[in-house]
Amino acid sequence: MSPSLDHLPVVHAAARLEHVRYAIRDMAVLAEQLAREGKTILPLNIGDPLKFDFRTPPHLIAAVEKAMRDGHNGYAPSLGIPEAVEAIRAEAERKGIRNLQSVFLTAGVSEALEICLTALVNAGENVLSPCPEYPLYSAILAKLGTEPNSYLLDEKNEWEPDLEDIARKINSRTRGILVSNPNNPTGAVYSRPTLERITELARQHHLVIFADEIYDKLILDEAPHATLATLAPDVPVVSFNGLSKSYLVPGWRVGWGVVSGEAATVKPYLEGIHQLLRARLCSNHPQQFAVRPALEGSQDHLIEVRSKLRVRRDLTVRACRTTPHMSCGAPRGAFYAFPKIDIPDSDEDFVKRLLVEKHVLMVHGTGFGQAPGTKHVRIVFLPNEATLTRAYEGLQAFIAEHYA
Ligand code: PLP
Repeated sequence: MSPSLDHLPVVHAAARLEHVRYAIRDMAVLAEQLAREGKTILPLNIGDPLKFDFRTPPHLIAAVEKAMRDGHNGYAPSLGIPEAVEAIRAEAERKGIRNLQSVFLTAGVSEALEICLTALVNAGENVLSPCPEYPLYSAILAKLGTEPNSYLLDEKNEWEPDLEDIARKINSRTRGILVSNPNNPTGAVYSRPTLERITELARQHHLVIFADEIYDKLILDEAPHATLATLAPDVPVVSFNGLSKSYLVPGWRVGWGVVSGEAATVKPYLEGIHQLLRARLCSNHPQQFAVRPALEGSQDHLIEVRSKLRVRRDLTVRACRTTPHMSCGAPRGAFYAFPKIDIPDSDEDFVKRLLVEKHVLMVHGTGFGQAPGTKHVRIVFLPNEATLTRAYEGLQAFIAEHYA
């Protein structure tokens, strides 16, 4: 007979987790339950191209396999293997980043963000983060005990950052600003004047800019992407990028940070980052051998990726614009759309019922933060046209049945 467990105290999670949310995965739990009941779910929720018809370029797999066979299975240098560091540095220089002070590899952009924010902010200080945002930003900031401080992205202005709101929100405890461009969840690609204005505010208020540019090779329109760090070589900028999205290996966890700015200004901060990089030993070793072939080898797969995404983006925008109670700008980068929904219910209820009744899985706007009084859903348009078409038919039927 097993002993009674009644007298054992419950193990509580730390209070700091109260503000950690990850709606993208939370909604997936309900979808898994429906799938176990035999329902076919149409997944428009998760930004993993490998779940759809996108395949890793074979030369990257060959490079990692070779690295493993050659015995590169021990710990790597804390900042990364020299050939990967050099390839990232060379690419940063090709993009026009000057005053480059450090390059380091991490387990995805996720770990780079965590390390660089941890090395900068004290409890009670704050970092401006976008609203809506990629939820990892506020999860890390909450964990660090910072004050929440978000700036609005302006839906009426193609989701560009609201510069007046940024200026208003900067206070004596603001240490940095997070910029996601191309943006998750809106698909916006910011204009050069907007980015220049952000660098001016950062210069004026001594802020570190965190430029998350993980989607910068997934631009779906003609207008080019401006690399933020190139606009202000004197301002401390950490540019983040990695192999997950553009090179179709999110599970390999290969990301990096590139720090630029005046050497003397960033020195102590850089030492803090390096200290944390050493404390966690290193990032995945054999996978780092894919970085040079990725950045310097054939980029042909990107042509196909972008052309598939353009078709799926257009299909998505057409569907959203012909759906009553829904409005949507055209995403210009990445693979996300963030249409507005005009309904009496909460967007979380909307998304849950859409999933239960039509088996279409999207994520509610509240999972990303949104301007007060507005409601949205985030759509990932990675699935093929047939899946997207069925999903949008389900969406339109759902809206007709509940909100006619
Ligand atoms: N930054 C943004 C804006 C993302 O959308 C994602 C993943 O969806 C990440 C970072 C995480 O990237 P990684 O796989 O390199 O950790």
